[in-house]
Amino acid sequence: MKRFAAALAAVLMLTACTQVEENIPVMAETSAVTEDTDASVDVTTAVSSEIVSEEITSETELETSEAVSESETTAAEEVQTEAPAAAENSAEETSAAETTTTEAVYEDAQAESTGTVTGIELTFYDVTLSQGEHKMPIVTMSPESAPDKSEIWTSSDESIAKVDGLGNITAVGEGTCVVTVASAASPNVTAKVNVTVKAAPGLTYIGGILIANKTYALPADYNPGVDPEAQAAFDDMQAAATKEGLNIYVSSGFRSYEYQSGLYDRYVQRSGKAEADRYSARPGHSEHQTGLAFDMNTIDISFADTDEYVWVKAHCWEYGFIIRYPEDGEDVTGYMYEPWHIRYLGKETAKKVYDSGLTLEEYLGIDSKYSE
Ligand SMILES: [Zn+2]
Repeated sequence: MKRFAAALAAVLMLTACTQVEENIPVMAETSAVTEDTDASVDVTTAVSSEIVSEEITSETELETSEAVSESETTAAEEVQTEAPAAAENSAEETSAAETTTTEAVYEDAQAESTGTVTGIELTFYDVTLSQGEHKMPIVTMSPESAPDKSEIWTSSDESIAKVDGLGNITAVGEGTCVVTVASAASPNVTAKVNVTVKAAPGLTYIGGILIANKTYALPADYNPGVDPEAQAAFDDMQAAATKEGLNIYVSSGFRSYEYQSGLYDRYVQRSGKAEADRYSARPGHSEHQTGLAFDMNTIDISFADTDEYVWVKAHCWEYGFIIRYPEDGEDVTGYMYEPWHIRYLGKETAKKVYDSGLTLEEYLGIDSKYSE
């Protein structure tokens, strides 16, 4: 097959025009024909070229892609009956559309022979995000037949935007940078996304981490709901705990400004303001309003004595969480010990904070105190 395709390509190249347009649909169709009729591939390649030229001669008003698309159906149907001599016909008739097709056949044969990726397409090449937002382009590597379509993602400035191995871009800090995806098999084949990150009004990011504590408040209208990435991370952690025979679940996740306002008022009535401030955040200051915090199981100090807590304390960083208000941390976090409250930071940051043995405030060098 490869030998034949190369020979065909050589013949076609003799008459091929040097002006070549990129035409992805044609490439895709040609490739599909070749793959679909695996058993009689030698015939197929020739037939598809011949049919394309017939279509173009008889129905010149058709757009290239339509002609090729129609011819693909015909080719697939007629593969068993057409003779392979057709390749010569094709070489005799030259038109712009045909040139594109023959060139596509040639490129496909060439790519197949080396097994490399020759092009990368993305669903977007420019994006503007607010801090904390994520967006992931869909990647199409060509040719379809390339055996290794692994992606390598990099950011020109991780303080502006980070990107993970799947191409999920996270806006970190204000500015612009370039996120690049390269083919692992052909590292010189790349596509780039120009990323602009704008400040999220009223939100405080420190080191790319959204902060909500007694010093830094969230706007009353900040209402993101539970963060999908944090929820997925919790689900993973929960599944792992289940395998250990442990039962962890969310008792309280995202809380809106209004909800927190009602909650805090109730606690103030019950305990008085000074005491309520030790365990309940004032509206706008609750980490639950970020959508990145969860309370687990029994919201009570007795949770610290459970096997579930022992496991979570040892493993939550593996899923991107930290125990946010540890024992003896009240002076720096502003809150008494809350073994049940975890905060999502992402795996990389959570590991760093866990390894440091510090609270998030100490890790970032910030404080947590109401101004009044
Ligand atoms: Zn909580």
